[in-house]
Amino acid sequence: MKYLRKDDPEIAALVDREEERIENTLNLIAAENYPPRSIMEIMGSIFNIKTIEGYPGRRFHAGCSCADAVERLAVERAKALFGAGYVNVQPHSGTSANLAVYFSVLEAGDRILAMSLPHGGHLSHGHRASITSKCFDFRHYGLDPETEHIDYGEVRSLAQRFKPKMIVVGASSYPRLIDYREMARIAGEVSAYLLADMAHIAGLVAARVIPSPVPHCDFVTFTVYKTMMGGRGGVILSRGKYGRRLDTAVFPGCQGTSAVNAIAAKAFIFRQAGQPDFVNVQRSTLENAVQLAAAFERKNYRIVTGGTQTHQVIVDLASRGLDGNTAEQTLESVGIITNRNFIPRDAAGSGKPSGIRLGTGALSARGMGPSEMVRIADLIDAAISRADSPEALHHVSRQVLEICVQFPVYRSQ
Ligand SMILES: *Cc1c(COP(=O)(O)O)cnc(C)c1O
Repeated sequence: MKYLRKDDPEIAALVDREEERIENTLNLIAAENYPPRSIMEIMGSIFNIKTIEGYPGRRFHAGCSCADAVERLAVERAKALFGAGYVNVQPHSGTSANLAVYFSVLEAGDRILAMSLPHGGHLSHGHRASITSKCFDFRHYGLDPETEHIDYGEVRSLAQRFKPKMIVVGASSYPRLIDYREMARIAGEVSAYLLADMAHIAGLVAARVIPSPVPHCDFVTFTVYKTMMGGRGGVILSRGKYGRRLDTAVFPGCQGTSAVNAIAAKAFIFRQAGQPDFVNVQRSTLENAVQLAAAFERKNYRIVTGGTQTHQVIVDLASRGLDGNTAEQTLESVGIITNRNFIPRDAAGSGKPSGIRLGTGALSARGMGPSEMVRIADLIDAAISRADSPEALHHVSRQVLEICVQFPVYRSQ
């Protein structure tokens, strides 16, 4: 950062502090990961400069030869990686990818059936605070109150009554595998399009350690910064026949110029995802999540849905007389970064999240394994169950630092 240090020491100092924070905390945010250093090089590269509108070979400005090559590479690599007939790598985010899918085949006001937010769905699936709910008529399905798994019977009966033009499946907070085949059957019965939003699990799908929605769905969207371990941005996969409509829905429908640096980073991670290192991190992410959930269960915490089949572990704190807000704050004070989360039982309207959502992607990228998961569950339990003891908290934070030093993120590279 030799230029930044000279030109704006204040920002440079914040970058340094953030790097310290990354190295010295345990990151259990399920929506984060540690991209390879190359991603940072690409994101900060000369590709920041080029303005592109349109698609390779049909741009609205001259000088696009390198940008065209990068975008073609990103598209080809994503097609090969996910087995998709059509790929769009231009969306700035998962939300804009979803918006573009909605507008590609639907008219404003059309009906969409999606998972409700307090049960694990995403804002862009028609939450009332999201513009998506103002453009389309959403209904929501929830989870079975007993098993906390998707209730496919409820999805089917809602679909038959509501007659949506599109069904959305995929969530921000749902640790179970999704039966895409069954969702496709339901969508087929009511002639609805099926969109799978695999934002959280794209890396696991890319590494083929969990099943892919691609063969069963009309549209698949995801972000590259979660388990996919890339930079920022969204991607749309689809069947060739929707290509033209998706192209225009993204540009000029929902966006102007796209970010060539982000597209180049997408191309990089789509190649990386075929390499053994990436696959090993994803495999370890899954295994670590199972170990983490089991460690909490041994301590008598209830795990939402009774376990995990992804990178997520959602812990019900009400089962131990605790709440999500307090736990998140206490944990941050000892260097363990998590987020409070609604659990299905909260949907009734308590207003207060009584869970925390944990993800094992970032810890696994650091090289941690099952024994660290057991140790980290111990530390989390020690911190939140003895939050009133400065001594206990101090003891936890020292151990957190010890683990962090043992598993550097970027420092040793
Ligand atoms: C994270 C997420 C997104 C995308 O979010 P952006 O912040 O817009 O990139 C979309 N859908 C789901 C289910 C998500 O979890």
